[in-house]
Amino acid sequence: MRVIRCGGKTMAQGGISQVTNKEGSLFESTMERFDYAAQRLNLDPGLYRLLRCPNREITVYIPVMMDDGRLEVFIGYRVQHNIARGPCKGGIRYSPDVTLDEIKALAAWMTWKCAVVNIPFGGAKGGVICDPSKMSMSELERLTRRYTAELLDFIGPERDVPAPDLNTNEQVMAWIMDTYSMHARHTVNAAVTGKPVGLGGSRGRKEATGRGLTIIAKEAMQRFNLKLADSQVVIQGYGNVGSTTARLMHDEGCRIIAVSDIEGGIFNPDGIDIAKLDEHVSKHKSVTAYPDARAVGNEELLEIPCEILIPAATENQITTKNAGNIRTRILLEGANGPTSAGADPILEQKGVFVVPDILANAGGVTVSYFEWVQDRYGYFWREKDVNERLEEVMCNAFKDVYHYSQIHRESMRIASYMLAVDRVAYYTKIRGIYA
Ligand code: GLU
Repeated sequence: MRVIRCGGKTMAQGGISQVTNKEGSLFESTMERFDYAAQRLNLDPGLYRLLRCPNREITVYIPVMMDDGRLEVFIGYRVQHNIARGPCKGGIRYSPDVTLDEIKALAAWMTWKCAVVNIPFGGAKGGVICDPSKMSMSELERLTRRYTAELLDFIGPERDVPAPDLNTNEQVMAWIMDTYSMHARHTVNAAVTGKPVGLGGSRGRKEATGRGLTIIAKEAMQRFNLKLADSQVVIQGYGNVGSTTARLMHDEGCRIIAVSDIEGGIFNPDGIDIAKLDEHVSKHKSVTAYPDARAVGNEELLEIPCEILIPAATENQITTKNAGNIRTRILLEGANGPTSAGADPILEQKGVFVVPDILANAGGVTVSYFEWVQDRYGYFWREKDVNERLEEVMCNAFKDVYHYSQIHRESMRIASYMLAVDRVAYYTKIRGIYA
């Protein structure tokens, strides 16, 4: 273990600003965990101040000609949190709820996530305030291309590499890659990850977050001498991450007893047939009204007794308000930031084994790294190779974090932050500060 010490001073003596937990501020919620980890590492106060701030916050105003001839202006962000260990990496989300505070938090999480799985990237995140469900494909394309054009000086294979996130997909990545390439005057497929396979995307990227979660679920269950087969699993969210995880865990023999999406949830204690559910979803665009299960609300769903609960939707789903009612053995965070900092001690007291987002859902960015590597040497791996390498990275990261949690007697959450902050701080110190 490498620890950056601050010459015997405690963090408080180092003159660090006071942090209060506001469940409302995602950035403060994540920084509260960072602060505690930094304190446990006895981090140098200067490094603490540096790592607490993003490197860059970019706001762009994106004019888009709408189909009806109106000119709309959208607000977009890209926050680059840290580049100590390599180029920035992180997704882009499209949502009416995007805020700069949220993007800052998500960018910092990317830094820690890349460090936990030990891939050579820093962290970034982007977001555009828009409602893609109310926009046509051509409006979305114009929005994406202009947003990319506004960011041209800041992104690229060596600078900052975007990827899909909430409400963005392979198509959006293809537009970003094309816009970037048109300006570069040649095809630069390493400019984004999560592209279609035929455009330099990686096999297995689409399933990677769900596959990573399944690998980590197996590792976590082993710690309790439990088997994945026949365990009861509840999944909140049925987008790419939730649905892939459901399918892969179902294949492992798990009983997926409840799932939900934005419309509501379904529950069947005997287990849901995921292939049948997927057919239902492709027809009806929602899990609700699936015939072989009863309806449950999203709140009730989180409180169903189970072995593994996977929040795979959005932030702040488990808070001080409902943490006391969670009845799972393992909480596996598929989403980024599904648990507020205030909920952590409540879950710990209840004996819930929390596998934090920055470890649990890192499969996506890990295969993004593989994609970037494949693009840069122009040789593409078989899916089998991608999946084997993913398994190796995820298992090693789980072991590292578990080991840290044992030796420091801290939760998996704090241990993963400690491991990540230690790695980033160490290399920041080695690089030194350019003046
Ligand atoms: N959006 C994903 C995440 O939050 C993937 C990011 C990436 O692949 O760069 O981890």
